[in-house]
Amino acid sequence: MADFDGSAIWAEALDRARKDIPEQEFLMWFRLAYGTLGDGTMTVNAPNSFLRDQFNRKYLGYMRNLVRDLAAMDIELVVSSPQASESFAPKIQAKAAEVQQSPSPTAAAIQLPRQVVREAKVHPSLRPSYRFDNFIVGDNNRFTFNASDAVAKSLARVYNPLLIYGGVGLGKTHLMHAIGNYVYDNQPDKKVICITAEEFTNEFIQMIHDRSAHEFKNKYRSADVLLIDDIHFFQNKPGVQEELFHTFNALYDSERQMVFTLDRHVKELKDFSDRLKSRFDKGLVVDVQPPIYETRVAILKQKLQLSGRTLNVADEVVDLIANNVSSNVRDLEGCLTKLTAYADLVHKDLTVDIARNLLKEMFNNKRHSAITVDSIIRMVADFYKLSLSDLKGKKRSRNIALARQVAMFVIREVTEYSTTEIGVEFGGRDHTTVMHSCQKIEQITKFDPSFDASIQRLLRDARQNGTE
Ligand code: ADP
Ligand code: MG
Repeated sequence: MADFDGSAIWAEALDRARKDIPEQEFLMWFRLAYGTLGDGTMTVNAPNSFLRDQFNRKYLGYMRNLVRDLAAMDIELVVSSPQASESFAPKIQAKAAEVQQSPSPTAAAIQLPRQVVREAKVHPSLRPSYRFDNFIVGDNNRFTFNASDAVAKSLARVYNPLLIYGGVGLGKTHLMHAIGNYVYDNQPDKKVICITAEEFTNEFIQMIHDRSAHEFKNKYRSADVLLIDDIHFFQNKPGVQEELFHTFNALYDSERQMVFTLDRHVKELKDFSDRLKSRFDKGLVVDVQPPIYETRVAILKQKLQLSGRTLNVADEVVDLIANNVSSNVRDLEGCLTKLTAYADLVHKDLTVDIARNLLKEMFNNKRHSAITVDSIIRMVADFYKLSLSDLKGKKRSRNIALARQVAMFVIREVTEYSTTEIGVEFGGRDHTTVMHSCQKIEQITKFDPSFDASIQRLLRDARQNGTE
């Protein structure tokens, strides 16, 4: 193993972890750890057994995957701590200072082939953890997952562009990066550019300022795969839309793949160039929906498993979260992070009561504020002398349909629910239906004063109920 350079691997792994892990946590855990490698095993030296155990719980699986990825071999990662009798306080200070200055490791004698590091698959703008193999597929995203997978495997031959839309925290960015990572892993010669619409806009503005149009155009038009996140950001920005239009044409004509994400259907984009929208018609538009209860349970269980942690979470706790966090996967992850932190710091069994208490605030946000969606629906139903199930159900008679639209409108006005989430509350209706309902009610209020008065009253009552 003479040619191995493990210190470089560990340095690279730290670099990647630094991007993935919140600053505070990174400093807390990683400044204390430094890796050495011998005989296919990388040893992380924790200064004491407490930190060793914490590291094992929180980051062993994660770091092991990173190191294996980078070294392109099955390295074992072990965390060792010195004998309890030794004093490590001075050493901790020294390590902390070193790592804060630079993420490079301190250990010597680590041997991995140098070229491995060069070949290691670290794309500068892709999140390494957003991959197909850790994306959990359910009915809410299967079609979109399959489309993304197909695009990654047959660049520019199946769907070009691919547009992924849907509400916040439902995996759009994850899937887009997964496409990038797949290409980067399997066809390293392809140039993958991944950027948010905001960064693209900033570069565009800078380019005008610097008069460097040539470099800007060259950069984007030389991409084999262009991934742009959150393109609704381009609304109201005709200059950058124009630039994207030309980039699009150049890439499309030379059969390069494009993938865009956005928070609404293309048709719902406002102040967006029609000719650019019509270019999007050449490709495929797919959406991600909020996960249903069963998928939420599966997501929570798989996330726990994938994290490689030993945290023992009872089914009742998983059930508690799945029941209380309904709208997005980011919030589900947030709950797990909080529970894991607790379990790491306080060595107590995680009972349902403790979990409920810990997650109170997360449950307490919009979905659990005093204004609940059901209370609004019930209020509107009462007003129209209908029942809750009439409004949530499928009946389409005129008075029911109108009351339903009013309820959607009121919810939209007084809560933070997105149209996607409101759709879910009304038996899984599409978010565009919710949007149209809200627009329609707004229209009627403009020319029918008595209707407007009713709506104002309902809005007032809904808000008042929320503050009681
Ligand atoms: P969006 O871009 O739609 O707002 P993200 O892609 O940023 O959402 O996802 C939010 C978080 O939830 C990320 O950490 C992502 O890895 C995770 N996530 C979302 N959907 C899934 C899924 N189906 N399986 C695994 N993780 C998911
Ligand atoms: Mg996103």
